[in-house]
Amino acid sequence: MIHVNENYLKLQSSYLFSHINQKVAAYKQKKPDAGIIKLGIGDVTRALPPVCIEAFHNAVDEMGKDETFRGYGPEQGYDFLREAIAANDFASRGITISADEVYVSDGAKCDTGNIQELFDTGAKIAVPDPVYPVYVDTNVMAGRTGNLKDGRYEGLVYLESTEENGFVPMPPEEAVDLIYLCFPNNPTGATATKAELERWVEYAHRNKALILFDAAYETFIRDQSLPRSIFEIEGAREVAVEFRSFSKHAGFTGTRCAYTVIPESCVVYDGKGKAHPVGKLWVRRQTTKFNGVSYPVQRAAEAVYSKAGKAQVRKLSDFYLENAAVIREAMTGLGYTCAGGENAPYIWVKTGEDSWKFFDFLLEKANVVCTPGSGFGACGEGYIRLSAFNSRENVNEAMARIGDAAGSRR
Ligand SMILES: *Cc1c(COP(=O)(O)O)cnc(C)c1O
Repeated sequence: MIHVNENYLKLQSSYLFSHINQKVAAYKQKKPDAGIIKLGIGDVTRALPPVCIEAFHNAVDEMGKDETFRGYGPEQGYDFLREAIAANDFASRGITISADEVYVSDGAKCDTGNIQELFDTGAKIAVPDPVYPVYVDTNVMAGRTGNLKDGRYEGLVYLESTEENGFVPMPPEEAVDLIYLCFPNNPTGATATKAELERWVEYAHRNKALILFDAAYETFIRDQSLPRSIFEIEGAREVAVEFRSFSKHAGFTGTRCAYTVIPESCVVYDGKGKAHPVGKLWVRRQTTKFNGVSYPVQRAAEAVYSKAGKAQVRKLSDFYLENAAVIREAMTGLGYTCAGGENAPYIWVKTGEDSWKFFDFLLEKANVVCTPGSGFGACGEGYIRLSAFNSRENVNEAMARIGDAAGSRR
């Protein structure tokens, strides 16, 4: 008899966004003309930059001729892209990362989800609360947790991100082995200072732990004093892995390209205390289970680093940040306390009531879809996430409607 991987049965059955979609679909049936505006799911809405489209087209043409056709590429990415990343995202900011420490992939979701395979099933893991669900669910699937109890998995250490700590949790008292951090944060939009990340790096050294740093929203940082990479912190090269993506940054959510940075000196330990480079393990994993990102996509990603590409990509994030400012201002004006939305495309709104109740209120009275904070973890209760990924017209209209709805509620 074929048995199921029972760890899958521990997973929370209703995936947050499918539950939201069900609610929205039911409401649409009741009110087909509502003209619903979605500020829920974190998908970008604007087209790929023209430089990417041009590079994409040219690469497709190359694939159409025997002389320039390419089959399987290197699993870790073509050198042209790895070198462009190392030069533009790191060297230009004074960060020492070489091209062969850059591992190109088809998504930061896959990378943040897959990397846990390299670590012991008994590893003690700390995750933020609220959290990007991928970090938690992939560890549940792998059997690194107990059962779900009152909204939390047994065996995980939850790093509470609250109003009191400015949504930036500090290291716990106890020793953990693996730490997931995400700044600018999804869902709270919070950013971490250098001093805050220094404490994490120091903690990781002290406990021989590893930090998995998700920097998918790095491009939205405008405050020059904020670190854009964990590798701006001294000592991070030994204890951290960083994930980046072209998704939010250059509109690649449907095109798929990302990368993971694993410094040569980053290690994990075996039972005898012997150190093993994480990069080598990752290559072993990827060469077995992954065959690389398509050539045209890597050419399109490379184009982001051209002079014109940099300007076009900057315009995209500027646009979304202007949306974020509109949302933050409008919600603050209505009396809601907000976090995020300044160096991040998400606004974390304190509702003063149950997250799902507020979701229903926005859906029914303003025909606006948000994401209930409680869907991201226990500490998200009492909050909603609003996303700046939409057209200006929709954002303005959504804020006007929320203003009316909130006004008539008082
Ligand atoms: C969107 C997002 C990613 C990027 O995912 P891709 O698979 O590269 O599209 C990674 N981490 C977080 C927290 C995200 O919100």
